[in-house]
Amino acid sequence: MENNRTEISSLGEFGLIDHLTRNFEIQNASTIVSVGDDAAVIDHYGKQTVITTDLLIEGIHFDLMYTPLKHLGYKSVIVNLSDIYAMNAVPTHITTSIGVSNRLSVEALDEFYEGVYAACEKYDVDLIGGDTSASQKGFIVSVTAIGEVSPHNFVKRSTAGKGDLICVSGDLGGAFLGLTLLEREKKIWIENPQVQPDLEGEKYIVGRILKPEARKDIIEFFDKNKITPTAMMDISDGLSSDILHICKQSNLGCKIYEEKLPVAEESRLAAFKFGLDPTVCALNGGEDYELIFTIKQGDYDKLVLNEEISVVGYMTDIEEGTRFLTKGGNTFEITAQGWNAFK
Ligand code: ADP
Ligand code: MG
Repeated sequence: MENNRTEISSLGEFGLIDHLTRNFEIQNASTIVSVGDDAAVIDHYGKQTVITTDLLIEGIHFDLMYTPLKHLGYKSVIVNLSDIYAMNAVPTHITTSIGVSNRLSVEALDEFYEGVYAACEKYDVDLIGGDTSASQKGFIVSVTAIGEVSPHNFVKRSTAGKGDLICVSGDLGGAFLGLTLLEREKKIWIENPQVQPDLEGEKYIVGRILKPEARKDIIEFFDKNKITPTAMMDISDGLSSDILHICKQSNLGCKIYEEKLPVAEESRLAAFKFGLDPTVCALNGGEDYELIFTIKQGDYDKLVLNEEISVVGYMTDIEEGTRFLTKGGNTFEITAQGWNAFK
């Protein structure tokens, strides 16, 4: 195989920035000044601005042994867009900052940016800047996303009301199961490099961890059907830990039903294969990037139009605690670590 490796040092910092950003086309009229100046300029035409940022560090947040750089670029944008949607806002711009060791070539960074640009294109956002630095060891990525929302249409975590329905988009636990599979295959590979990883039949869960999507469709559904959630956040740490944020910040308790938890058939089968409980995966597994939100009971009729939304419980008085009802009729308290006490 031909070895196409271009050292970053052959381009230099400015050459590299230019190389990485040369073909990108601006999509939003609000982008007034983009890459190439001291700062970008955005016009928000009377909307309110939402900003979020995430830092991803090799060895802590991702493992390049099983994470293709293109997927990493895509995911590092998606996790930020998910936070913007979780505010009921529409993302418009991102900046990407990278710390790169000499282990990565220009071609490797090209792959990473291919993923970044694929996410930009799919979600109609403009890359308007960033920063580039050398790193002694490991790849470091920081993405900031900016979005817009009509004045006071943003949705916080602290405004759920008693009796509001708790809803979740998509399905849960798949990303955790995908990660479990990749970690297992990595271990087998380290011990026995001849053995090729066996990911056949597990495309769904591997896709959930390596190529997550942000729930743009849910925010569009709200807009179209005139639904404003009373509280919302994205599920990055796991349902049990994230619902506790809404409860704590809204000063309420909750009741969640095991039988209502959305789990994909592929995830259920994978869980059984690994000897795990699908419910525990759905509750405690992170990185699904689904939305969890609360709505007034009166909006229930509008919700049933969308098959991607499951009602999993409702908000209660704080005195009632944060409760989980199993299929067997037992009640447990939801804790940040999940419900390990159950075992
Ligand atoms: P400064 O010295 O002001 O930090 P830089 O030379 O770092 O400027 O950046 C020049 C331009 O390139 C700026 O518009 C900056 O936002 C953009 N930029 C730098 N690094 C990246 C990157 N990794 N991805 C996208 N844009 C970048
Ligand atoms: Mg700079």
